[in-house]
Amino acid sequence: MAEIRLEQLAHSYLQQPSGPADFAIERMTHTWEQGGAYALLGPSGCGKSTLLNIISGLLVPSQGEVLFDGVQVNELPPEERNIAQVFQFPVVYDTMTVFDNLAFPLRNVGTSEERVRERVEEVADILDLTAQLPRKARNLTADEKQKVSMGRGLVRDDVAAILFDEPLTVIDPQLKWKLRRKLKEIHQRFAVTMIYVTHDQLEASTFADKIAVMYQGSIVQFGTPRELFEAPAHTFVGYFIGSPGMNFFTPQLDADGALVGGQPLPLSPGFMNALRDAMSRSDNVTLGIRPEFIEVVSADDGGMPATVSHLQDLGTYRIVTAALGSLTCKVRVDDALDPATSCIHLHFPERWLGLYVDERRVEVAS
Ligand code: ATP
Repeated sequence: MAEIRLEQLAHSYLQQPSGPADFAIERMTHTWEQGGAYALLGPSGCGKSTLLNIISGLLVPSQGEVLFDGVQVNELPPEERNIAQVFQFPVVYDTMTVFDNLAFPLRNVGTSEERVRERVEEVADILDLTAQLPRKARNLTADEKQKVSMGRGLVRDDVAAILFDEPLTVIDPQLKWKLRRKLKEIHQRFAVTMIYVTHDQLEASTFADKIAVMYQGSIVQFGTPRELFEAPAHTFVGYFIGSPGMNFFTPQLDADGALVGGQPLPLSPGFMNALRDAMSRSDNVTLGIRPEFIEVVSADDGGMPATVSHLQDLGTYRIVTAALGSLTCKVRVDDALDPATSCIHLHFPERWLGLYVDERRVEVAS
């Protein structure tokens, strides 16, 4: 097991990159601590696989260092890094039995047959593969093959880290949930560093203690699922995490205070100062609030009037789409709201209001 540190790391697939747009990974310094369960989450093309391949040694970074427990490993090939990697599609030897497939990584490093049997049986048990152990891998279903592939990643207990690159893509939806739970269980049992790449926020938050959200070649936030939800550090995190994502508004100022969609937005003096300061420094200032944190209040409570345009029933909760002056806003509401309501009054609790300057969150002193 190891701490993995990326120091001033950057990568371009071009020999002579001419600007930031030519980099798949922008300059970053980041640490994956020993024994952590991490997810690397982001949309297609943001650089997740590139970063994972740099960690595993399949790619040599064009700039910076990869350090395992403080030792630079930039030029070391994967087999010398002691890393297990599980890919999107199963990597199994069809002509071997499931037992021999699982035993392969152990026998490769000269493990005793007694220990091989012990570990293979343990991992097969966790992955519900015991009945398949004597079968040839070619006779397995796609799900079973991927389980074997995962088992091969999990079987050695001396690896520095296990890297998963969207390992559940080919797995049946019913089984996906179960396997994610299993991986979590395995992590708790063996305390090995695991980095799990996915573009699915549910998959990331059910597996990981901490999630690194990637956007355009950078990690824009590294935090617990709760931190990403409650205080997105970047507008992209606000938009990407949550369903629906965060509401963003461009504020205006007038003599009396702040406006959103032409409506006065009550703010404390501290927030107002921070907003004025931000707007004096940048013309890219937004306010963000999640649909879950907007309160529907009575007109007497000073809420901003909004016109309901759509009510979506999602079973356990409902999402209202409403026009707030010239802006559109999504609000999560409970069953108490009469579906025939056409006008609601909204309150934005300041505790849940984010101030974003050039897409980055600015902390406002309370
Ligand atoms: P996906 O989820 O679709 O796999 P990703 O987040 O893993 O996406 P990468 O595959 O790392 O993203 O790609 C990051 C960027 O690097 C993209 O712009 C991609 O087109 C580019 N890229 C990836 N592999 C290569 C390559 N071998 N040669 C040139 N460019 C590449």
